[in-house]
Amino acid sequence: MTGGRLPPIALTSNCPGCGVGLVPEELRERCYVCQCGHHFRMHADAWLALLADEGSWTERWGDIRPHDLLQWKVPRPYREMLDEAREEGLNESVRTGQATLAGRPIFLAIFDFRFVGGSLSIVAGERLTRSFEYAAATATPLVLLVASGGARMQEGILALMQMAKVNAAVGRLHRASVPYLSVLTDPTYGGVPASLALLADVNIAEPGAAIGFTGPRVIKQSTYADLPPGFQSAEFQLRAGQVDMVLPRTELRGVLAHLLELYCRSGVRGSGACG
Ligand SMILES: [Zn+2]
Repeated sequence: MTGGRLPPIALTSNCPGCGVGLVPEELRERCYVCQCGHHFRMHADAWLALLADEGSWTERWGDIRPHDLLQWKVPRPYREMLDEAREEGLNESVRTGQATLAGRPIFLAIFDFRFVGGSLSIVAGERLTRSFEYAAATATPLVLLVASGGARMQEGILALMQMAKVNAAVGRLHRASVPYLSVLTDPTYGGVPASLALLADVNIAEPGAAIGFTGPRVIKQSTYADLPPGFQSAEFQLRAGQVDMVLPRTELRGVLAHLLELYCRSGVRGSGACG
């Protein structure tokens, strides 16, 4: 089911879905999915353990680090947020690198919601752009794992510009006919789904994940409309045609491996050596 053993994640004492008391070790064995189907948010290390074959991960562009270019102060100094994240061992909201998944080479880009809400920043944009460009140049499939609140407010227009830059790199990958698979987890909001996360060849969403551009509270406040039940859930977006499948996390690795194999058998570029 997994590439390696999943690391611990922060958990509440009870499941927010069903209220049952959680046994962390049991939950870990089920990829942090409760018996009721509630999917707990995982950080980048846990996603790496789930998706990358054990020992196959090579991080790239981790040495590109964020700076407080705009000297942003509100609601709190951005520099302080960066320092705190560094102390926790985090250096950005997106980690990128190369790995194998079920033996097939992939580029892997993973958002980490712990770092300023998984927001798209200058550094995240640069790492993503390089990943898409190198994936296109080397004909290697790209797998994207998303958990993001959108573009990073503290980097202003410099963060918004990353949407266009990353989007152009996604276009290069498509024109090179190299497979691109996207996994949308809770939450996937703002410029991230708009510029890259919903533009894959196959868009996969986790059950119950919130996916949209602006959250339902803001939409309701600005339109005064009654929003339909389940608005912006993964299941809602499946019915609306925005995602291709809603898939339990326990099946994700197997389905990604199967998709990579199908691309391989169809003779698409970048699908790795056929086994
Ligand atoms: Zn539950």
